[in-house]
Amino acid sequence: MTETLAQIVAAVGKDVADAHRGAGKVADYIPALARVDPNRFGLAVITCEGETAEFGDSWMPFSIQSISKVFTLTMALERLGEDLWVRVGREPSGSRFNSIVQLEAEKGVPRNPFINAGAIVVTDAVLACRTPEDALADIRDTIRRLADNDTIDVDKEVAASEAATGFRNYSLANFMRGFDNLKAPVEDVLQTYFHQCSLRITCRQLARAGLFLANEGVDPLNATRIVSPEHARRINAIMMTCGHYDASGEFAFQVGLPGKSGVGGGILTVVPGVGAVAVWSPGLNDVGNSQVGTLVLERLASRMGWSVF
Ligand code: GLN
Repeated sequence: MTETLAQIVAAVGKDVADAHRGAGKVADYIPALARVDPNRFGLAVITCEGETAEFGDSWMPFSIQSISKVFTLTMALERLGEDLWVRVGREPSGSRFNSIVQLEAEKGVPRNPFINAGAIVVTDAVLACRTPEDALADIRDTIRRLADNDTIDVDKEVAASEAATGFRNYSLANFMRGFDNLKAPVEDVLQTYFHQCSLRITCRQLARAGLFLANEGVDPLNATRIVSPEHARRINAIMMTCGHYDASGEFAFQVGLPGKSGVGGGILTVVPGVGAVAVWSPGLNDVGNSQVGTLVLERLASRMGWSVF
């Protein structure tokens, strides 16, 4: 008898949780993240047919952090189209997510939209001429709509701590403003950026929100076009090449799917034509990606035969 998706997700989730739960180091640059229980572990899969399969803490909200960059990139591409690529590149950086070194040589144009500098430019593009409050409401409502859930909201404590400790992000933003690659005031861009990173979301909601990327830009469960097929392909390509910072090559090698990680310990992964997967395990590896999350994706992709290659 062939196993169902639910059985495979439960079996892979349990195997990995039993052997590795709690591995890695929880982000500790702000107290609200340092407090998170390292033993939390959630996994959620949703297919383009609407089949769902979950394991563990898939219902529990965590800090979306850099995974929010997928959704702001989606919004900025729709807003600016190809003009976005004048302000941000699409090459892997090979550097840490908050690195400043390449920015000077490359005249304030960040390598890609998923390192912090690139994401800050993307948030500036989403901000356009609006107030940070309006732009943030737009980002939050976009994620709510995609996740089909109106409860998703900002953790105000996390947002305030991000701002209080975000010296590197202030440096990156000021540097880019010096090259005229930010249009809005640095404070407005960063307040929006810190708040988008502080949204709380569950694995279940995150997988649902990413599903349009598995279906050429159309949400398969309500037939709404979110982005053009070209933009969906490009977002997936950037997730594949840049979604895990300087471990993006390793993720492509081991998992073979577009993915985006965040320092909250979440990873959103797209299985083109099939569905979306979200995992959460707060302990990070040296590069800042979820250690157990990466492992469970490797196992699940291999069990399911999922890969774009
Ligand atoms: N808020 C974090 C920062 O800007 C997000 C980084 C991440 O998730 N990699 O430093």
